[in-house]
Order: sequence, then structure tokens, then C-alpha cells
Amino acid sequence: MTNIRGRGQGDAPQQVWHIGDVTITKFVDCVEEHDLTHLFPKATVQALLDIPWLQPNFLTADGTGIFSYHALVVETPTRRIIVDTCWGYEKGRGPSEELAQIQSLLLEDLEAAGYPRESFDTVLCTHLHADHVGCNTMMVDGKWVPTFTNARYILNRTEFEYWKAPYDMVPDPEFIHTMEATFYDSVAPVHEAGLIDLVEGTHKICEEVTLVPTPGHSPGHVSIHIASRGEQALITGDMAHHPSQLVHTDWSLRWDFDGEQSVRTREQVFSDAADKPILVIGTHWAGVTAGHVKRDGDSYRLQCD
Ligand SMILES: [Zn+2]
Repeated sequence: MTNIRGRGQGDAPQQVWHIGDVTITKFVDCVEEHDLTHLFPKATVQALLDIPWLQPNFLTADGTGIFSYHALVVETPTRRIIVDTCWGYEKGRGPSEELAQIQSLLLEDLEAAGYPRESFDTVLCTHLHADHVGCNTMMVDGKWVPTFTNARYILNRTEFEYWKAPYDMVPDPEFIHTMEATFYDSVAPVHEAGLIDLVEGTHKICEEVTLVPTPGHSPGHVSIHIASRGEQALITGDMAHHPSQLVHTDWSLRWDFDGEQSVRTREQVFSDAADKPILVIGTHWAGVTAGHVKRDGDSYRLQCD
């Protein structure tokens, strides 16, 4: 399957959401098609095609999933935050061999939009997988150094300690290798520079932004709740990779750390958000990327306005 779009937002219009005094802007690293029946062992192409609202944003006409890798810039009256930093530069990683070799344009896109890397005061990673920490560091004079030099990188302690520890709890050897390399080139240099703050449980970043534990996909996974002037949003992280998981909350990812916990997390989060004015912004949800969760019989659907 060929990719839909390579790295760098290019001519795609930026998507912006306003939640009270908070502005959230999406910066696309890359978009690609994925066979969801491989990612979610319980999924079938027919079950996907049976969900009409997945097309055209999240599913092709032949039932292939559309995945976006994007960073979200969250600006509050007091903070400039980047949430998840995608695949990164010169790390040879990406959703496909082909894309892994293409230079990311994320930092250039941020700068062109008025967000140079030095201007961020906070970096949040929903978890420490390779597609969420890549631009945490950059190569300077043959060494990986922090990209966001004026920021505090605020990470969940459980997540940090797990990936720092031996990797014997993760089943897939290829994944182990990638995670090991990821930690050492995208997290450890930031730790060595003294820029990481480890936090636990529900943690308030500032008046409007709070980290909320949503474990399962990874041990210390967090989502990001935003509230301002009576309006609310939730950035999912990978607690739900694809909107089809609103309908099938039991579709766990093949590589979830704890698949059963990820099901419980999805059911809790979607139940809490259902039929409420909470804008749910997906970390890998392509196209419109955000919507409201509505109850639909025994499960849920995403209403994209
Ligand atoms: Zn991810």
C-alpha cells in the first residue's frame, strides 16, 4: 500500500480548535494507510465497512485504515505546549520503510507557523513509543541533544521507569529493539540534560491542562484534558488508535502492553465523554481528527461536526 502523504504538512491547511482561551493546532508529520485487521486482531474488513461514518476521514472505500501522525500545539494564556513529537529526524523510523527514510518537516512547519522550537516551554508525551517522542531530540555534531531547549519535558513516572528498565515484558523482539533505541536516542539525552520532570497520576500542568492516566496501550500512558471557560477537550494519545474502537472498544492493538486494561480504559473514557460537550481529539485520527462521542446502542460513535 502506498502512502497517502509523505512527511511535512506541505499545502494542507492547518487545523485549529479553540477551547475557551486555549488554542490547539495540529501539525501533520505524515499520513499513511494501515491494514487494521493486522493492527487489531479482532477486526475484520467487513466489520470496518459496516461503520459508515468512518469514511472518508478514517477508512478508504476498500476498508483500509487511514492513520495520521501529528503533533498538537496547545497554547494557553500562560503556556506554549507541544503534545507528542512524532517520528523525528534522522532516526530511520516511520510507519513504513519508505517514509522512515524521508526527513521529517515537523520543526520547519512549526517555525513557519510562528512556533520556533525555542519558544516552547512545555513538552508532553502521552507515552514513550517511537512515534510520540521522535522530535524530542535532534542530532547536533554527532550527538542527540534536546530539541526544545527552553522547555520542561513532563512525563509520567511509571512510563519512564518501565522503558528505562529491562524490556523483558514486551513480547515482540523487533518492537523491543525499536523501543530500546527509541529510549536511548529520544528520551535519555533529555534526561541527561536535566529537562525531564517525572509526575504521577492525575497531574495539573496549568490552570487549563491536566494529564489523566489512561493505561493499557503502555504502562503509564496519559491523555490530556483541557478545560477553559466551560469548554472541554480530551487529547486521546494512543488509548484509541482509530475511531473504529469507539464501536468496538474490545479491539485492542496487537502490541498493547495490557490489552484488557486498554479495553477498560476505552470503555471508561468513552462512557465519561459520551453525549457531553467534550471535543475528543485523536492522536492518530486522520482528516477531521476530532469529534464528539455519542452513545449508539451498546457502544459509541464519533460525531464530527
Ligand atoms: Zn502512536
